[in-house]
Amino acid sequence: MEIKDSVVIITGASSGIGRATAKNLASAGAKVVLSARSEDELNELRSEIENDGGKALVVTADVTKREDLDNVVSKTLSEYGTVDTLINNAGLMPLSYVKKLKTDEWEKMVDVNLKGVLNGVAAVLPTLTENKKGNIVNISSMAAHSYFPGGAVYCATKAAVKMFSEGLRKELAPKYGINVTSIEPGAVATSLFETITDEDIKEEMQQMKEMTTLEAEDIAEAINYSISQPNRVNINDVYIVPTEQS
Ligand code: NDP
Repeated sequence: MEIKDSVVIITGASSGIGRATAKNLASAGAKVVLSARSEDELNELRSEIENDGGKALVVTADVTKREDLDNVVSKTLSEYGTVDTLINNAGLMPLSYVKKLKTDEWEKMVDVNLKGVLNGVAAVLPTLTENKKGNIVNISSMAAHSYFPGGAVYCATKAAVKMFSEGLRKELAPKYGINVTSIEPGAVATSLFETITDEDIKEEMQQMKEMTTLEAEDIAEAINYSISQPNRVNINDVYIVPTEQS
């Protein structure tokens, strides 16, 4: 797909990977729709993009609410007339050991990391199937491939997102020309680690700080690559990790 002038919705655009992706795609000429809960951060990002000559629309949404994502799509259609790409990026990672029974955090991860993706897809699908083209990019994780300490629930949500992406691709790509990609990053320097409340995990995470991690821009580039292929090419998975991460 030609990125220039295409319409791209990004959830979790207020920070980290979502923010970097919005800037990357806007500078490639996309009209970006910035969504998350933090309105001030989104407005700040919109100003940055507009100052650089790009186009951006802000629509706040909590991805756990289906109606919020429906509203994002309907505002996008009113402003830009169509949707070409949805990037399901919003997520959180409050790692904890299962025995601590932080069940509220388990539920939040399922609600945001998994149900949030389902809500995004449900909101955008009628437009993409009618257009018989488009891209859905889901941000899964290296966590979909292997467990890491405190990650039993987080890894489960990301494995589910990877598998859901595979099902989506098989149902949508051949029949409707909708390309689907699962992005699976290792450690990226963002605020994601701040959602951890388990003190034992926080201590263990200190070791990670010695490693050179990926930057959010590295993932933005992988997303740009995935959606800018000719329609005949579907990039199924991008498994991208820091050189130093084993
Ligand atoms: P950040 O913490 O920087 O960004 C998370 C984003 O998700 C924020 O914009 C936040 O916005 C949004 N968000 C959280 N909850 C909700 C909600 N209920 N509704 C809408 N938006 C929400 O982390 P990253 O950029 O690292 O995370 C982006 C994605 O990348 C996540 O899915 C994460 O799991 C995945 N990932 C990250 C890795 C890493 O090492 N950083 C590695 C592999 C995958 P707001 O609070 O304003 O709503």
